[in-house]
Amino acid sequence: MRLTRFTPFQQFNQSLTLKIFSICFVSTHVPLLALVVYLVTGFRSEATPVLVLVLAATLIGTAFCLACVWAFIRPLHQIAGVVETYRSTGVVKSVRSQRKDEVGIVTNGISILIKELDATLAQLRRQATTDVLTGLGNRRWLKDIGALEIARAARERAPISVVVFDLDHFKSINDQFGHDVGDQVLVMAGATIQHNLRPYDIAARIGGEEFCLVLPRTDIDAAVNIANRLRMQFESKAVGPLPAKRVTASFGVYRGDPASETLKSMLTAADRELYAAKNGGRNMVRSAVALSIRDAKIRA
Ligand code: GH3
Ligand code: MG
Ligand code: MG
Repeated sequence: MRLTRFTPFQQFNQSLTLKIFSICFVSTHVPLLALVVYLVTGFRSEATPVLVLVLAATLIGTAFCLACVWAFIRPLHQIAGVVETYRSTGVVKSVRSQRKDEVGIVTNGISILIKELDATLAQLRRQATTDVLTGLGNRRWLKDIGALEIARAARERAPISVVVFDLDHFKSINDQFGHDVGDQVLVMAGATIQHNLRPYDIAARIGGEEFCLVLPRTDIDAAVNIANRLRMQFESKAVGPLPAKRVTASFGVYRGDPASETLKSMLTAADRELYAAKNGGRNMVRSAVALSIRDAKIRA
């Protein structure tokens, strides 16, 4: 085993104990040093000037000690601020200390740990809210973000629509062509959805072959158009060994009333339309508008 040899300077540089000891030693000896210099240089040795000198030297020693201690623990103050900011706002700030002693190691270590913690949390959050196969959001994510969008629509008095859709006869794709081909269809569906949505639309995979869109600022006609566009795109896609037009989906579209409805009630209403589409022969879009919105339109 090879032992690293440190020079006395390196040892001093790396040891907070040695540094603090040196400051204390120098600070406490300032009055004595001043007195020795004073006497050696032949000044008067009466009590008053000597007392004044010792007092002044003590003050200088104390100020020197305070300044050095402040400089030593300054990085700890900075890293304490970084920890507080991260805890209260989630904003990551970084501090870099050039020091090689324990204060430098702790400061840089905590700074790096906060960055790593934040990156890990972000990754975990992504994993907890993303569907691995399609890259879309999952049901949990939809619940949180969808509720926010509905609250925003209510505040802004803007239309909002939801679309629920389900691939048709998907089980038989798995049965006839294998689970891998079924997965390829789901991946294709995810990519097609992502490719067709506007940046502010929300898309999630909420079941095996069931998907959901929350479309802010979208009335029923626009939502039906989006659903139909997706329906036709699915039909036109070639996936592995599947025959042409084998991938189809049935859609339920619902324009909700954000002032009186929750995401759950909107999804239930869209689900009713989806079942109507399944019962109507599949590969089609069925839609409905909230009663309160229809009534308001009739009155207007
Ligand atoms: P319908 O037209 O009435 O919707 O019929 P369907 O066959 O699509 O519906 P069903 O509910 O009978 O079958 C859904 C199938 O989806 C059953 C399940 O094995 C399959 N499935 C669920 N998740 C996955 C997945 O992640 N990958 C694959 N390949 N298949 C899945
Ligand atoms: Mg299905
Ligand atoms: Mg299904």
